[in-house]
Amino acid sequence: MTYDVVVREVGPWDGLQLVKQVVPTEIKAEWISQQASLGFSNIEVTSFVPPKLLPQFGDAAEVVRRANSTSDLVASALVLNMKGAQLAMEAGARKICFVLSASEMHNQSNVRCSTDQSVEMFQKIKAWQGEHYPETFVAAAIATSFGCSLQGDVSQYRVTELAALLAELGAREIVLADTVGYGNPRQVYNVFKDIGREITNVPLAAHFHDTRGMGLANVAAALEADIRIFDAALGGLGGCPFAPGATGNIATEDTVYMLEAMGMHTHIDVNGLLELRKNLELWLPEETLHGTLANAKPAINFIRNSA
Ligand code: ZN
Repeated sequence: MTYDVVVREVGPWDGLQLVKQVVPTEIKAEWISQQASLGFSNIEVTSFVPPKLLPQFGDAAEVVRRANSTSDLVASALVLNMKGAQLAMEAGARKICFVLSASEMHNQSNVRCSTDQSVEMFQKIKAWQGEHYPETFVAAAIATSFGCSLQGDVSQYRVTELAALLAELGAREIVLADTVGYGNPRQVYNVFKDIGREITNVPLAAHFHDTRGMGLANVAAALEADIRIFDAALGGLGGCPFAPGATGNIATEDTVYMLEAMGMHTHIDVNGLLELRKNLELWLPEETLHGTLANAKPAINFIRNSA
């Protein structure tokens, strides 16, 4: 069986959040535009968080404005609270993704309130958006859906409950994120299957980190559970302040390669991605990039079949 799979780039936000060097807006815009030209219709371009906390995203409004000039690109901005959501929409973001954590401890550390309070905040954001920016696509992401480095286990029941709540409050897409790389393929399959039975009217998406080497196996497991939307970061950039030693997101180039090798259609140019990764190396000289395809190169039968 073969089908279309959407791979979304989250490098400009999730990938850069731990990068100390503040990347110039010019370079971010160039990265986003080059990546869009390789077939990416969805890119998470920035985050509206207080610049005092994360100076990397002090240029969020400008990045959104620049990304919006790329035709056919849905540039999305991540937000954690009302203030961020308002700024994102005022800056012209056509899509926002609100993040909360299934783990109480992670939510407290990240946004200093309970998960229930974050749900209430989402409700207020939806109300404000409905009134001022009814066209904006509002997604919601549940961080630590597969475990938490502060709390340990996260109840699958809680994740399902939160997903159902967010869908009911008007989220048009729900992302389950393995923020700290605790998920394993069997768990991923079970969680997505269960939630997929519960939520049938809103698409589910998966966000995996390769912290413990299970990133792509988790993608394969989620595919089996009928998930067709995946987040990834070029060069496996990224990490989490609460996951020490984390290697980062699953690498976009490896993810696209695996999906294409399995016969799925991502409509993304793999070789173009490897070229773009070389640019990323030049743009971020102090960062170690991850992923295996860049060194190994695609298999010869892959090249023949995709030619
Ligand atoms: Zn992430």
